[in-house]
Amino acid sequence: MRAVVLTEPETMRLVDLPEPECGPRDVVVRMRGLGLCGSDLAVYSGRRRVAETPWLMGHEGVGEIVAAGAEVTGRTVGQQVAIEPNYCCGRCPACVAGFTSACLNRVIVGMNHPGLLAEYVAVPAEFTWPAAATVALDDLVCTEALTVARSAIRRSGAGPGQRCLVVGAGSQGLLLCLALRELGAIATVQEPHEGRAELARSFGAELVRESDDGFDFLFETSGVPQALHAGLAKLAPGGTALLVGISDRPIEVTSADLVYRQLTVRGSLIYDHPADFADTVAVLGQGRITPGKVLQARFPLADAAEAFASVRSVAGKSWISFD
Ligand SMILES: [Zn+2]
Ligand SMILES: [Zn+2]
Repeated sequence: MRAVVLTEPETMRLVDLPEPECGPRDVVVRMRGLGLCGSDLAVYSGRRRVAETPWLMGHEGVGEIVAAGAEVTGRTVGQQVAIEPNYCCGRCPACVAGFTSACLNRVIVGMNHPGLLAEYVAVPAEFTWPAAATVALDDLVCTEALTVARSAIRRSGAGPGQRCLVVGAGSQGLLLCLALRELGAIATVQEPHEGRAELARSFGAELVRESDDGFDFLFETSGVPQALHAGLAKLAPGGTALLVGISDRPIEVTSADLVYRQLTVRGSLIYDHPADFADTVAVLGQGRITPGKVLQARFPLADAAEAFASVRSVAGKSWISFD
C-alpha cells in the first residue's frame, strides 16, 4: 500500500509499506481523508520529536472499515468511521475517573504511535466511530478537530445566549465559532489576519471591536501569550477562560488580575473517551453542524509533502484526500 513518511524534518517521501495486520480487537480502515493541524506541523518541523524516522504522521483520519477482528462487536465492514486518535488505557486513576484526556499511558496516534497517512490502518475498534451514511466526507474529516472544540465548550459550561470571545481564527478557532453558534451562544472573534477573520465572519462569528468587553467566556486558540492577556482583560467579572492553544512561553498574569475579577482559567486538552467523540458523531449525523467548510485546501496523497509545507499559508484547514 502507499504511505507517506517523514524522513527528516520538513522532508516527506511516498513509500510502499506492507498492509497492516488486523488484531482480534482491531478494525482495518481504508483511509479516505486526513485533516492536518498544528500538532502535525510540530512533528513535520521537528519541534515535536518522534521516536524514529521514517515516521508515519497524521491523526485526523476517516475512512471505511474493510476488515474486523474476531472479537470485535458493534463495528462492521462497510461502515464509514472517524478515528479517535488518542487511545486511553482505561485502567489508570484518570481513566477510572472518566478523565481519559489525562490518561497516564495515552497512545497518541501520529505522535508516540504510528500515524494514519497510509492507505490502510489498523485501529482498536473501540476508537473508531461509525457515522451515519448521510454525513459528507468533508464534514466527517473535521470530526476530531471539532471534538476538541466541543470538549472545550463542554468543559467551560458555556450555554445559549452567552457571549464568547474566541481568540484566533485558525481551524480550531473556526470550529469553536461553529460549535458555539450551534449551541446558541454568541461567538466573537479576535484575529489579526484578514483572510482568517473574513472566514470566521462567514461562519457566523462577529469580529471583536476595541471597545468590546464583558464576555462570559474566552476561548484561546492562538497560544500567543499577549493575545491571552488581552483576552482576559475583556472578560466580565466571574468570567472563564479556556486555554486550547499551547505555548511554552510564560503568560504575564498576576493574582490580582484573577482575584479582583474572580476569573477562572483552565486548560482544555483533547476530549474524554468515549462520550465526547460519540456526541460529536451523533451531532454530525443529525446534520446540526456542517464543519466541512473549514476545509480550504485539498491534496491527493501523492502531494502530502506539499500539503504540509503550505499549511501555514492556508486560512482554514488543509486535508489529504485518498479517493
Ligand atoms: Zn489535530
Ligand atoms: Zn489511562
